[in-house]
Amino acid sequence: MAEVTLRNLVKEFDDVTAVDGVSLDIPDESFTVLVGPSGCGKTTTLRLIAGLERATDGEIEIGRELVNDQRAYERDIAMVFQNYALYPHMSVRENMRFGLEQHGIDEDVIGERVDEAADLLQIGELLDRRPAELSGGQQQRVALGRAIVREPEVFLMDEPLSNLDAKLRIQMRAELNKLHEALSTTTVYVTHDQVEAMTLGDRIAIMDGGQIQQVGPPTVVYDNPRNRFVADFLGSPSMNFLEGELSRDDGAFVLDVGPIEHHVPEQYAADLRGYEDERVTLGVRPEDITLRPDGVPATVNVVEPQGEKTVLELALGDQVLKASVEPGIPVEMNDRVSLDFDRDSIHYFAEDGSCLTYSPDAVERSQRTGDHAAVTVTEEGD
Ligand code: ATP
Repeated sequence: MAEVTLRNLVKEFDDVTAVDGVSLDIPDESFTVLVGPSGCGKTTTLRLIAGLERATDGEIEIGRELVNDQRAYERDIAMVFQNYALYPHMSVRENMRFGLEQHGIDEDVIGERVDEAADLLQIGELLDRRPAELSGGQQQRVALGRAIVREPEVFLMDEPLSNLDAKLRIQMRAELNKLHEALSTTTVYVTHDQVEAMTLGDRIAIMDGGQIQQVGPPTVVYDNPRNRFVADFLGSPSMNFLEGELSRDDGAFVLDVGPIEHHVPEQYAADLRGYEDERVTLGVRPEDITLRPDGVPATVNVVEPQGEKTVLELALGDQVLKASVEPGIPVEMNDRVSLDFDRDSIHYFAEDGSCLTYSPDAVERSQRTGDHAAVTVTEEGD
């Protein structure tokens, strides 16, 4: 096993800069997920680590060894792709053995490794079948098995679960977690699915425009986003944003967002200092909005029961917010409700998108106390 280090990595394809100065430390034994929207450079970054693309600039180290000039087969990595890339004419066993035979591994060792991996993945019964005789989930397990038997220093996985149906994907995520616990092999996993990233990775690196926007443990990044892109990308439904003009009233900050005058809780005053008379955006996650008396009046536009939670679409003047509330809450379309924001979970963003309340070591902010922020109502359009 090994750590992977990327330093100022750049990859240009003609006039497209797919990877634009990526620096990332991937610790030994970690499960790091590269996540971001389509075209942000995730796959290219993974292919650079694999040696399937040559870097335009920058350095790649695997196990502290510079590998820029090594070809893919010289790097001690194994890849798992979205399309399982199994050889159709070979049995499962032959598919798993093939790479090892190519590397001249001893016959007994090959047999042992294939049996162990088949056990781990519970595909022992399938070893004599051909890929066409397997379900999608079984084929993906074989693809994983083929990677495992290599006993590489690093696993590189590119959207390996995206061909599976939703239920199987959730099951396979749990299995990948278990697998990583059993093998502890350094893993770099690419997905565009933020839920997958949050549930799989012990670290996530969020990419946009060929650059890494933020890296950290999923819950820390979720609770303490560095900028509006990260805040918006993680979470379903996404964070609500209310833009307004920041002013001072009797020493306290007030954000006038049209339908509400939001009194900024004292704990954020230091973060917002210097932004008076500027446009500032308040961000609040759906689960940090609660319905309670004496809050801001809003109208229920839509009620979406989702099983473990109910999502409400609420109209607050001309603004629309989403709130995640307990299931079975007795509200209906067109009801007038009163809402409140969790005081400890509000974020403020400057016009350039940077999060003014971001603090690099704000792990404690994820421990929510449930206090609520003061908001007062003004007439719509004020
Ligand atoms: P997706 O989730 O859609 O796979 P991604 O984040 O993995 O996207 P990449 O595949 O890394 O993104 O692509 C990043 C950018 O580089 C895109 O604009 C893409 O069109 C471009 N690109 C990738 N490979 C090539 C190539 N071989 N030639 C030219 N442009 C490329």
